[in-house]
Amino acid sequence: MRNKKRLLAPGPTPVPERVRLALAQDMIHHRKPEFKAIMAQVQQRLQKLFGTTQPVMPLACSGTGVMTAAVTNLFAAGEKVLVIEAGKFGERWGEICNASNVVVEKLVLDWGEAVTAEAVANMLDIHPDCKGVLVQLSETSTGVLHPVDEIAGVTKDRNVLLVVDGISAVSISPCSMDEWGIDCLLTGSQKGLMLPPGLGLIACSDKAWQKAESVTPSCFYFNLRAEKQKTLQNQTLFTTPVNLIVGLNESLAMFEETGFDAVFRKQWALTMMARTAIVEMGLELFAKDHFTWGLTSVLVPENVDASAVLEYAKEQFGVTLAGGQAHMKGRLVRIGHMGWVDWADLAAGLHAFAEGCKACGGSITSGYLEKGLHAYHSALNDSEIL
Ligand SMILES: *Cc1c(COP(=O)(O)O)cnc(C)c1O
Repeated sequence: MRNKKRLLAPGPTPVPERVRLALAQDMIHHRKPEFKAIMAQVQQRLQKLFGTTQPVMPLACSGTGVMTAAVTNLFAAGEKVLVIEAGKFGERWGEICNASNVVVEKLVLDWGEAVTAEAVANMLDIHPDCKGVLVQLSETSTGVLHPVDEIAGVTKDRNVLLVVDGISAVSISPCSMDEWGIDCLLTGSQKGLMLPPGLGLIACSDKAWQKAESVTPSCFYFNLRAEKQKTLQNQTLFTTPVNLIVGLNESLAMFEETGFDAVFRKQWALTMMARTAIVEMGLELFAKDHFTWGLTSVLVPENVDASAVLEYAKEQFGVTLAGGQAHMKGRLVRIGHMGWVDWADLAAGLHAFAEGCKACGGSITSGYLEKGLHAYHSALNDSEIL
């Protein structure tokens, strides 16, 4: 018997039928009124998603593309920025800066740790010439959630831009750009937004737009100031992935119907379900206190090869999970539960993971699923999280 396929990775994520049908519609022309009307609606919905009154610009690229757009439009070659490096995606900020000759000062943390606002303030005191702080809200390689709202308290009154990679956080846990004081927020289509890969989204604060005035973008394709003018006319600088925009309008309509509070609550409940089940299995969670709401990272037992667990889960149960990246490959399993994932998908994922561990020589305490589901139901009614 072939199992139903379940994609429980931290991107790409499952795409709901409603969105798939929207994606399948006839192609329309991106410069004509019909498309502009869709863009106008998308824009309103995107501003709610980002918690901003600023234009949110869609770019045809993967997540790394929008990160590149942020660096090359906000900072000139030779300027210095502070990069928070606590995993693979923090490292990527540094790599993008290096490629653009932006000078990097690093705050390096062990994988699995979250940065503190105090540490950021200290670094900015030591290096007052830093023009930006580049951080992930959710560091997808470790499952850590950095306290971006607190970091914004540090950057607000300084001559420095807070640039936030929200790729595995926006639409998954609360993130309010204007209220928090984020200067540049960006995300991608294939994580929480229930869409295929290929679309990036980015918005800038007044402070960031002012800074951008003094920068000549080092690459022709990503020109945020020109892109902003187009966004204000419900257009894009170049041909946009029309069907992804149509799909985005549908997924944002679904969020609107459900309400973001309910979406976040579900994400929180799934996170509680996964974390409770993992602890009940007798295994160790990788992200301890500051954890994201869209994935759960687990250290497999010493004698178990995580890659073999992933293979078993896929072969025997039809479940796709993710492994660790870089030096955590073979040691870590990352269970994605962002976007179009519900309790039953996660229950399947936890079961496939546990059976995989057992098959690969690990010992797992039983009863984890019942405890996990109990945690899910109590967390749904948790009044304190939002
Ligand atoms: C997925 C992800 C990226 C990279 O996105 P690509 O679409 O693969 O370029 C960057 N940052 C974070 C936090 C991510 O989760």
